[in-house]
Amino acid sequence: MTEPASTKVDMEKIVSLCRRRGFIFPSSEIYGGLSSCWDYGPLGVELKRNIKEAWWRAVVQERDDMVGLDASILMHPQTWEASGHLKGFADPLVECKSCHLRWRSDDLEDNNCPSCGGELTEPRLFNLMFKTFMGPIEEEASVVYLRPETAQGIFVNFQNVVNTTRKRLPFGIAQIGKAFRNEITTGNFIFRSREFEQMEIEFFVKPGTDQEWFNYWLEERLNWYVKLGIKRENLRLRQHTKGELAHYARECYDIDYLFPMGWAELEGIANRGDFDLVQHTSFSGKNLEYFDDETKEHFVPYIIEPSAGVDRSALALLCDAYDEELAEGETRVLLHLHPALAPIKVAVLPLSRREKLVVVAKQVYADLRRQWMVSYDDAQSIGRRYRRQDEIGTPFCVTVDFQSLEDEQATIRERDTMNQIRVPISDLKTILAAKLSGEELFVLPPGGKIWKGERET
Ligand code: ATP
Repeated sequence: MTEPASTKVDMEKIVSLCRRRGFIFPSSEIYGGLSSCWDYGPLGVELKRNIKEAWWRAVVQERDDMVGLDASILMHPQTWEASGHLKGFADPLVECKSCHLRWRSDDLEDNNCPSCGGELTEPRLFNLMFKTFMGPIEEEASVVYLRPETAQGIFVNFQNVVNTTRKRLPFGIAQIGKAFRNEITTGNFIFRSREFEQMEIEFFVKPGTDQEWFNYWLEERLNWYVKLGIKRENLRLRQHTKGELAHYARECYDIDYLFPMGWAELEGIANRGDFDLVQHTSFSGKNLEYFDDETKEHFVPYIIEPSAGVDRSALALLCDAYDEELAEGETRVLLHLHPALAPIKVAVLPLSRREKLVVVAKQVYADLRRQWMVSYDDAQSIGRRYRRQDEIGTPFCVTVDFQSLEDEQATIRERDTMNQIRVPISDLKTILAAKLSGEELFVLPPGGKIWKGERET
């Protein structure tokens, strides 16, 4: 994490907004919190669901060459011997406080990080994995681990998926799930926590085609963040140096985001070669080769792994969406969240609490909520209610006023421009669906008109 962020948002503002509006709370807060564990509140859980949904849609639903999986968190302990996690983390380790690389303390000549020269933590015998016991007796034989990554659940199911789906290479298996790491250095809010969620793809390819697929996934994954609204200049690709490469990787790039504390990893994309399937073959004794019916060859596929974090994506998306501007003499805080990610898509706001208005507004609310997460707010002035929605990134507000009772129309107000159009209530659902999918606000239905704001020329 070098170069401080030049963006105007600092982490305190994000933490405070998340706390204030119910995105994210410290875990078990009434007991003083639990270090590096976080609870997602009513808005946070929606944001997270939307991120996972957007990922699943892009990598599974809209592709022919990918299937999903949901493997269990607890796995046979031998999995972690085969993967190298048990051995790799049982050494005396120190961790660099700035770049977070870990080093065996007995390999080091002085007390500085060989990669960036940063200060190192005290050495300790460290296993990154959380240990627990399966069954009623706490004995070594029943030790199991909370998985530190979801990937291994995919590797051990490779043959099951090939046999049951008849997928042919190249194809991938995607999985979203919790992972746990007893991290030495934590901090920066949800950036590095001890319990987090990963979105991982293991893409199986024929050896020799791996470089091509590696490049493909680098571009594909980078574009995913851009399509969801992250500014391209806040993203970069960083290649791992030889010394930095994990034991299983032939090549690795990080997609870094310019977080408030500097550039840091959002997603890692690795060419894992045949390491994982070869290891699991040797530890399980099961043949994990693939049979190519065209060439009649047996071989162990190579694996390209794009591995992303849900929590880090949420943090990057919040930081990137955060904005403050002066509106009518007041600071307007707003989140420019992509409509697909916004926790609430539409807010229905009756201009007053008079019964006649409330009846219409409640009808609109009942109708729209069947389709989206919609909120209903009738407390305080309309201006304040708009601000509340801006701050949580709600793309559209629908206002029902006294005139609505006569002309059966309502106004739609757009978050970023604050422009408004007036449209028939009966068409609201169709119109909002189009606007949420990106249609320009001033594309009007029959009978609709620009209400406030100007058509851009
Ligand atoms: P770092 O070096 O930042 O700890 P890593 O290289 O160990 O990350 P990977 O093992 O490549 O991370 O995991 C893939 C992805 O999982 C990361 O890019 C990140 O988005 C997410 N991730 C990993 N560790 C954590 C954590 N402790 N908290 C939140 N997300 C994490």
